[in-house]
Amino acid sequence: MTTPVFQNYIDGTWQPAHNGQTFPNHNPATGELLGHFPLSAASDVTAAVSAARAAFETWRLVPAPKRGEILYRVGELMTRHKEELARSMTREMGKVLQEARGDVQEGIDMAYYMGGEGRRLAGYTVPVELPNKTGIALRDPVGVVACITPWNFPIAIPTWKMFPALVAGNTVVLKPAEDTPLSALCLVELLYEAGLPRGVVNLVFGPGKPTGEALLQQSHVDIISFTGSTETGRHVAVEAARMLKRVSLELGGKNAVIVMDDADLDLAVEGILWSAYGTTGQRCTACSRLIVHRAVQEKLLAKLVPRMQSLRLGNGLDEDVDVGPIINAKQLAKVHNYTALGQAEGATLVTGGAVAHLAGELAGGNFYEPTLFTGVQPEMRIAQEEIFGPTLSVLTIDSLAEAIQVNNNTKYGLSSAIYTQNINAAQRATRDITTGILYINAGTTGAEIQFPFGGTRGTGNGHREAGIAGLDVFTEWKVVYTDYSGKLQKAQIEE
Ligand code: ADP
Repeated sequence: MTTPVFQNYIDGTWQPAHNGQTFPNHNPATGELLGHFPLSAASDVTAAVSAARAAFETWRLVPAPKRGEILYRVGELMTRHKEELARSMTREMGKVLQEARGDVQEGIDMAYYMGGEGRRLAGYTVPVELPNKTGIALRDPVGVVACITPWNFPIAIPTWKMFPALVAGNTVVLKPAEDTPLSALCLVELLYEAGLPRGVVNLVFGPGKPTGEALLQQSHVDIISFTGSTETGRHVAVEAARMLKRVSLELGGKNAVIVMDDADLDLAVEGILWSAYGTTGQRCTACSRLIVHRAVQEKLLAKLVPRMQSLRLGNGLDEDVDVGPIINAKQLAKVHNYTALGQAEGATLVTGGAVAHLAGELAGGNFYEPTLFTGVQPEMRIAQEEIFGPTLSVLTIDSLAEAIQVNNNTKYGLSSAIYTQNINAAQRATRDITTGILYINAGTTGAEIQFPFGGTRGTGNGHREAGIAGLDVFTEWKVVYTDYSGKLQKAQIEE
C-alpha cells in the first residue's frame, strides 16, 4: 500500500507546500508510517493568513445564530464520525481508545456549547448617568486568529480555540502539532462538510520552525492562541509583544494530588492512577506530585504500587491496554533523563524507571514503565519541573498547612486535588490553593467545557479557555451610547 500524501487547506483548496517539501507522521506505538504532510514555509503561511483576512470581511457579517448553526452541524458530524476520529487519533498519538473517544467528545461538547452561544454571545447593558441616553456593551470579533496547538489533545484543543473564535465572527489559521496532523485534517474536513464558507478556517502543517515561527511574524494575525510548552510559550509571548498582538497562552503544569490522613484511600488510589498514568502522564492536568500525609503514606503506597505495576502497556487500539506509548523518541528520552535526575537528587525509585521493550509489532514503540519516586523534597527538580510522562513524585507532609504550602510552591498553577473527609480541610484548601482548577475527592484531570480552563503563575498569561471566559479571548468589547435628548449632554463633567 502506498503511503498517503496530505495537503494544506488554504482558501477552500487542498494544496501542497509551495516548495513541495513534506514531513512524515508515525504511529508512536509501532513506528508505522501513517502519511506525509506538507512542511509549510513562510509563503504558505502568508497565503493562509491572507485567505483568513479576506474571509473575515464576510464571515463577521454572518449573523451569529447562523455561525452557531454551522458549529451545531459540526457537532452532529463529529458525533457520527466519533469512532473513526478516535481511531485515527490513537494511531498517530498513542492514547488508549477510550481516552481518544473522550478527546473527540470534548470537541463535540464544545461544538454544541459554542453553537448555542450563537444565540447568546451576551454583552450587557447597565443604567447610564444622563437622561434620555442608553449604553450597551457589545462583543465584536477581533479578526484573524492563529491557533498553534500541541499533540496531546489533537482534536479537543483545536476545537477549544477555533469554536469560540468562529462563533464570535473571527477567522482562523490552524497550525497543529507536527506529531498529530491527521486529527486536525479530519476535523477541518468536517467543518467544511458542515457548511463553513471557504477561507474561514485555513490549515497549515509543519513544525515549530519554520511553520509556527512564520505564523508568529504575520502582521495580519490579530490574536495568537497557543497551547504547548512553557519554553515555546514564552517565545510566543515575546514575539506577540513585539508586534502588540493579543496572545492567550496555555502552558505547563506540575499538578498535585493531596491525600490527607482521613482520606478514603481506595478512592484516592483510583484518582491517582487515572491522573498520573492516564494518557501516559501527557496531559496538562496530569498529576505528577503526590503530597501525602505521613500517617497514611505506607498504607496508600501499599495499595497504589501493585496497581501501578499491573497497568498494561501497549497499543492504544487494543481495548485491554491501560497505558499507551509516549509521543516520540525525544520525549521518551526526556522522561528517562528525569528518572536519572531523580536518582541523582537522592529520591528513591520504588518502581518503574525504565524504557519498556515490548515484543512483536510494538518493538519499535516508545513505551515507558509507570514510575514512582518516594523521598522527594519540594525543591528537587523532579518535584518542580514538568516531565510530561508517567512519573510520579511522592512528597511527605505532616499537616494541611504544609500540604497547601508544598502544593502552591511551583512555578505552575493549573490543577490540584485533595482527598479528605473533613469539610473544614476541604474549605481551607478551597480558600488557599492557588491553582486554576481544584478537585475535592477526585483526581486532577477531567475539565468540563462549560467552565473556564487554565491556571495561575507560569501556566499561562491570565486568560482562560472554554466557558464564557473563552469568549473573552476572542472578542473586543465595543460600547455604544445613544443620546436621544436632542441636546449636547456632557458625561462626567460638572456644569
Ligand atoms: P511540545 O513540547 O509539546 O512539542 P511545543 O511548545 O514545542 O511543545 O509545541 C507546541 C506547538 O507549538 C506545536 O504546534 C509546535 O509545532 C509549535 N511550536 C514549536 N516551536 C514554535 C515556534 N518557535 N514558533 C511557533 N510555534 C512553535
